[in-house]
Amino acid sequence: MDIARVITTLREEIKSYQVPVVDLIAAQTADPFKVLTATILSARTKDETTAQAARRLFARAPDMAGLASLSEDEIRKLIYPVGFYRAKAGYLHKLPDALQSLNQGRVPADIDSLVKLPGVGRKTANLVRAVAFGKPAICVDTHVHRIMNIWGYVKTSTPLQTEMALRNKLPQKYWLEINSLLVAFGQGTCKPVAPHCDRCIIRSYCPRLGVKARKIPSTARDRRLDGLNLISWNVNGIRALEKKGFVDIVTSLAPDILAVQETKAQPEQLSAALHNIEGYKSYWHSARRKGYSGVAVYSKIEPRAVIYGLGEDEFDAEGRVITLEYENFFLVNAYFPNAQHELKRMDYKLAFNSAIHKFANSLSQKKSVVICGDFNVAHKAIDLKNPQANEMNPGYSAEERAWMDSFIDDGYIDTFRKFNQEPDNYSWWSYRFNARARNIGWRIDYFCVDAKSDKRLLEAAILNEIMGSDHCPVSLRFSR
Ligand code: SF4
Repeated sequence: MDIARVITTLREEIKSYQVPVVDLIAAQTADPFKVLTATILSARTKDETTAQAARRLFARAPDMAGLASLSEDEIRKLIYPVGFYRAKAGYLHKLPDALQSLNQGRVPADIDSLVKLPGVGRKTANLVRAVAFGKPAICVDTHVHRIMNIWGYVKTSTPLQTEMALRNKLPQKYWLEINSLLVAFGQGTCKPVAPHCDRCIIRSYCPRLGVKARKIPSTARDRRLDGLNLISWNVNGIRALEKKGFVDIVTSLAPDILAVQETKAQPEQLSAALHNIEGYKSYWHSARRKGYSGVAVYSKIEPRAVIYGLGEDEFDAEGRVITLEYENFFLVNAYFPNAQHELKRMDYKLAFNSAIHKFANSLSQKKSVVICGDFNVAHKAIDLKNPQANEMNPGYSAEERAWMDSFIDDGYIDTFRKFNQEPDNYSWWSYRFNARARNIGWRIDYFCVDAKSDKRLLEAAILNEIMGSDHCPVSLRFSR
């Protein structure tokens, strides 16, 4: 492993990642007391939780004297719900006295003194020494230990062994930053479970020792199935997704046709890499308003014709529909409007729904119709985690569901439900409340086909392992 090259590459890569909370506090405050306190809070705790707890605690105790003025019970309430908050409240309560007797109330910079403080182990001590004082130290947390072993840079069983091995092997100029780099990288890409090797910037250097291959989505895996591999994905900003490995994801999924929605880009804003994915031609229909809506299709097959929009300016101005005509079917790629808060845009949405329904009906007079995209509606209770709580909300209102009923009653087939009747299958998750990890989601992305295309359906799936957007891709294998 060329460690210099890997570290240089990761340094650039993690600029777009979340900064680990302890580094953030160090950068914002340059205060060893706050770094030490935040480091104690951060053990076994998510960064967002640590940041909130630290904010509450520092508002009451901005320095050691402030901390000394709080009771253990008050500290406990302020730092809840960090992991082991009871024990940590005890450590923090004892900290002012311990520092007083150890170093006249100041945070020491050497490891041997730091580890004498309550709640401070070797990892915390190294982190405080490196981050708060900029002194040579290698903090080895679980991400550093794990990733260094995956790379084969060390071969160790415990973080302490890793620290010692790195002291011998890793050039000292990298000691200070290695923890921040690998914590950010370990949280964002090289995750403990199912790391994103598919979009990892250093995968060509990495031997992936002991890494279990991610489950390859069935559409890419099962080449024995005949038919076209069609994928639809609301990318929620294609330029942002490009930085998270969009091109590599497309290459590994290898769809014959990829329909994307919410591109939020004009064609002239796209990089050459986005325009020219090898093997594909792309077709774009963007909103007039920059950075809003927009759809596009990447196709390995040359279409006979492309239809931009529905022929109605109020919808076409928002770049919501693009249709590719192939030899024996139409592919309609649509980004349905959101009914919005308090259903303010319901009239617009229902008018759009009616227009695209009419458009699909007219196409189906000529040949098969595949209509895919973000429909912005969960059709039935099975299609979202909390149906009752969302009865009146956009995406699950009675009006939107009634339109979807009428669409299905007209003969259109929700292809995913043809093959799968199970709950908990979603294609969109809020960015809030850790919703994706908890699978609190909605199925609002669809492949539907007209009635006469039923016999051409081979397989439909939700590719919920593919990250990068708040939606995941959905797929359809459709006979030629
Ligand atoms: S290729 Fe995979 S295992 Fe290796 S560093 Fe990247 S994400 Fe981690």
